[in-house]
Amino acid sequence: MRTTISVIKCDVGSNVGHHVVPEPLVNVAEISLDRAQKSGQINNYFVFNAGDDLELLMVHEKGEGNKEIHALAWDIFQNAAGKAKDLKLYGAGQDLLKTAFSGNIRGMGPGVAEMEIEERRSDPIIVFAADKTSAGSFNYPLFRMFGDPMSTAGLVIDKSMFGGFKFEILDSKENTKVILNCPAELHEIIALLGTSTRYTVSRVWRAEDNLVCAVTSTTKLSLIAGKYVGKDDPVAIVRAQHGLPAVGEILVPFLHTYFVEGWMRGSHWGPLMPVSLKDSKCTVFDGPPRLVAIGFQVCNGGISLGTMGKPLIADMFDDPAFDMARRESVEMTSVFRRMGEFEPARLSAEGMEYTTLPQIIEKLKGRFKPA
Ligand SMILES: [Mg+2]
Repeated sequence: MRTTISVIKCDVGSNVGHHVVPEPLVNVAEISLDRAQKSGQINNYFVFNAGDDLELLMVHEKGEGNKEIHALAWDIFQNAAGKAKDLKLYGAGQDLLKTAFSGNIRGMGPGVAEMEIEERRSDPIIVFAADKTSAGSFNYPLFRMFGDPMSTAGLVIDKSMFGGFKFEILDSKENTKVILNCPAELHEIIALLGTSTRYTVSRVWRAEDNLVCAVTSTTKLSLIAGKYVGKDDPVAIVRAQHGLPAVGEILVPFLHTYFVEGWMRGSHWGPLMPVSLKDSKCTVFDGPPRLVAIGFQVCNGGISLGTMGKPLIADMFDDPAFDMARRESVEMTSVFRRMGEFEPARLSAEGMEYTTLPQIIEKLKGRFKPA
């Protein structure tokens, strides 16, 4: 049976600056998705937040890029933004860059990751959602999961992974994409993915049978709007086990923090902090950039259910095993913030292209004399 997992997210407004999605906006989404589930439009859902981003997880049988599913998400974001305006919340409707919905939410502001799968006997899924960062922030962990035999033991031990994986990599500057094979083109993959401000992993397949194993949202808000309007705050869907990396191999790259682009005003490098859903809120310098991970099992077109018919959702970073990464993230925050607006704490000139920095250079233009 073919099942589709859709994660569609949007910053529709936040309580107290860019801090967190408040309950009234979560309620708007839950009421709509409950109605959609009862009418049979979707089979299951889960609403959560990554900092100030409202995240809609919908499981259904309608395939990727489905007009009905995208319209459902679009209407929810419109209604939630309306609610945010009524409550005078901060940045109400921030990511809704276009007004007329034309059948697909891609390119309109919200981030989208969708994966249609042929359900296996048991299909564990992890959904990652980050706040205060950009699409390239998943390059490093996805490489570790599917390309690094020093991280994923299965690449060495499980013969069903010996054929390796294929990475689809998007060039956000040229708007082109390329598929590279790992391990055959390992060095080329690292060469591109290391430039995480430009190249982004958009999809991963198992090479021997093209089984889809990971998808990410690759929206660059600045490229849609032509200026800095907010952080891209990406989501990713990763499939685990049975000839794919185990759940633990998918989570082990987050044992330590690593640096991502985004943070305050989308203009700084910051240490990613893996957190539980209860700590999914941004504070220090609007961060540090946070990452949540929820896990579930796909079951007959939906999510395995627990008591009262509620989907069984696991909060994967709600675990002291990630305390070290959180501690490192705070320590690195302290090091970088001590540097203020000096590189490498702040992004390079190229990374600042869509911020207000060019206006400052423009203002000083006439005062530069030949040296
Ligand atoms: Mg955000």
